[in-house]
Amino acid sequence: MKTKQLQDPFGRKIDYLRISITDRCDFRCIYCMAEDMTFLPRKDVLSLEEITRLTRIFVDLGVSKVRVTGGEPLIRNDALVLFQQLGGIEGLDELCLTSNGSQLVEKALPLVKAGVNRINISLDTLDSERFRTLTRHGKLDKVLAGIDAAIAAGFDRIKLNAVLMKNYNLDEAADLAKFALERGIDISFIEEMPLGEITSHARDVEFISSQDVRDLLSEHFTLKADSFNTGGPSRYWSAEGYDSKIGFISPHSENFCASCNRVRVTATGRLLLCLGNEHSVDLRDLMRSSDDDRLVQAAIVRAITIKPEKHEFNLEEAPQIVRFMNTTGG
Ligand code: SAM
Ligand code: SF4
Repeated sequence: MKTKQLQDPFGRKIDYLRISITDRCDFRCIYCMAEDMTFLPRKDVLSLEEITRLTRIFVDLGVSKVRVTGGEPLIRNDALVLFQQLGGIEGLDELCLTSNGSQLVEKALPLVKAGVNRINISLDTLDSERFRTLTRHGKLDKVLAGIDAAIAAGFDRIKLNAVLMKNYNLDEAADLAKFALERGIDISFIEEMPLGEITSHARDVEFISSQDVRDLLSEHFTLKADSFNTGGPSRYWSAEGYDSKIGFISPHSENFCASCNRVRVTATGRLLLCLGNEHSVDLRDLMRSSDDDRLVQAAIVRAITIKPEKHEFNLEEAPQIVRFMNTTGG
């Protein structure tokens, strides 16, 4: 039962939690991870019970939307059990998942049955060779079949996420949009963020702004700004003749911090107040040291008072944020 509503010092209501349930992944996307990664020891990662307990505490504090992410959430053993537990939390209006799609053929339907309302699936290219280059390990066919399985399973809403890079996949922006719109699902194009040190490419060289992508798409679609809003950072546009939407997540070119309604919890139970800043508070040790939820609640309420006003990303400098997106919980 909700007893409070979290609000930060800038008057922003915090009603959206993104929680990473693992830093591990079956892919190594070039913008997200280094080729060789050292993953967390299991004992440092929150247990399924701890994740459920923490989510319940957040819901009690006014959170109504939770997105489970990672790493790849579906490679965690018993992930489905977790979704069943989360799906049963009273007061949680939206249970969402972000996945790379590699396991959706088997898991899409059980996820819907567990109560997952919405799913975001990452897809940066429709070319299998390129898919291999971008993910280092992934198989495109498997993911495309996973997308079909997700459509058949009946989620309330499905969105594709594509990180666009000038010399890797920008030329596929219109094809990716068409792929989504023709299936009646949304797609968001994401500007790459400087999270973690990578060697595969220079992030500033690959950068393409959302406006440039819109200009490019306008050669193929008649686009119109749309007021559609899912409570996330995407700003949506409609394409004439289609029902689903094209979104843009523009951390560099169209800062979305003023309407930020979210916080993140890492796989180790660290509460991150902002994607682009290091402000954080450890909740795991507190949870492990006491069964009293009121102590955890009080720690969260205190933590919200240090939520920064906004992020400042600079692609030309060495990354100020050394953690990779898989640790952050994208
Ligand atoms: N493994 C799942 C997936 O790929 O959808 C969930 C975790 S992943 C970190 C979540 C999202 O973050 C994906 O859509 C991915 O494309 C995006 N992402 C990862 N690294 C990024 C970066 N450096 N800049 C922008 N988006 C990034
Ligand atoms: Fe894995 Fe998702 Fe990161 Fe790709 S973006 S490496 S699928 S966590």
